[in-house]
Amino acid sequence: MDFDVCIIGAGPIGICCAIEAKKNNLNYVIIDRGCLVNSLYNYPKNMTFFSTSDKLEIGDVPFISHNSKPTKSEALEYYRRVVSSWELKVNLYEEVSEIKKTENFEIITSKGRYISKNVIISTGFYDLPYKLNVPGETLDKVKHYYDEPHPYFGMKVAVVGAANSAVDVALETYRKGAKEVTMIVREPNLSETVKYWVKPDVENRINEGSIKSYFNSNIKKIDDKSLTISTPEGELVIENDFVLAMTGYQPDFSFLKRIGIEIGEDEYTTPFHNPDTMETNVDGVYLAGVICGGLKTNKWFIENSRDHSKIIIKEIKKNNS
Ligand SMILES: Cc1cc2nc3c(=O)[nH]c(=O)nc-3n(C[C@H](O)[C@H](O)[C@H](O)COP(=O)(O)OP(=O)(O)OC[C@H]3O[C@@H](n4cnc5c(N)ncnc54)[C@H](O)[C@@H]3O)c2cc1C
Repeated sequence: MDFDVCIIGAGPIGICCAIEAKKNNLNYVIIDRGCLVNSLYNYPKNMTFFSTSDKLEIGDVPFISHNSKPTKSEALEYYRRVVSSWELKVNLYEEVSEIKKTENFEIITSKGRYISKNVIISTGFYDLPYKLNVPGETLDKVKHYYDEPHPYFGMKVAVVGAANSAVDVALETYRKGAKEVTMIVREPNLSETVKYWVKPDVENRINEGSIKSYFNSNIKKIDDKSLTISTPEGELVIENDFVLAMTGYQPDFSFLKRIGIEIGEDEYTTPFHNPDTMETNVDGVYLAGVICGGLKTNKWFIENSRDHSKIIIKEIKKNNS
């Protein structure tokens, strides 16, 4: 079947685009390499969104949570309900590997191929973690995704990073019985972006020594039972059972480049798109959601990128009429 638009990525913004396409009688499909809202599914089990639930609403489906800020399980339930109530066409567990421009677009996936007049890329940034690039990183004890604190009970845990994820993980593992929690931070301070209601908590735990910390420090080597860290006072070796590398994630730029999308030379290597239409330099290929920010992964989020869908579908309708 030929489509008016293929949407790559079934995150909240890909879903938004599908709803808008359906409202406008376009023939569409969403394709995702994982489950529905795969990124959200991989967020920590006990996470709470910083947005209130109304700000995460899409497709005029009300989102009512028990508290003002919803939990991960409430959000998963909500986006399942949105997709069911709009009866959206979503093909899951199907990875898009190539998009070729022929007369239309040929979209090659792990299960087959699609032909579409337009393509929306809403693939987010959560699939590619920043690596530490040190010996020992491939050991099973090194995790780039954190789920819940239970596995770390009674263990010596090192948390790498200075932003919200690292802080949340350090506090949660400390409170749920990790034997020792050590934060290893490359910078001299925690990130400015740490949530203002969490910052005093982590600072107090660090100051009282409940959570150990090494600032201006980097891991040099990971061994089965230890870590080597370079600190301003010199190199030291600490005992360690797990490394939780909360060092952030980045968009798959090689995927974008293979499609022919230009990547900017600015500090965030922003993929080229016209902010008035969201169209890239490849005619008929649009960007939506968090991927639009390149390495500035906190520029766009659900709250402020829901409207990308309206802009894109309006443009597709205009170009196809
Ligand atoms: C801990 C945490 C808390 C957050 N809290 C909030 C909040 O309170 N409010 C808020 O607005 N935002 C919040 N965000 C940010 C928000 O979750 C993201 O901005 C949002 O998920 C972006 O949506 P998206 O649809 O652009 O991308 P994503 O949700 O990342 O979806 C991208 C999808 O594309 C799929 N994909 C990737 N590559 C391919 C491929 N080659 N083929 C097929 N499929 C592919 C992925 O599997 C994924 O399902 C939070 C983020 C984190 C990490």
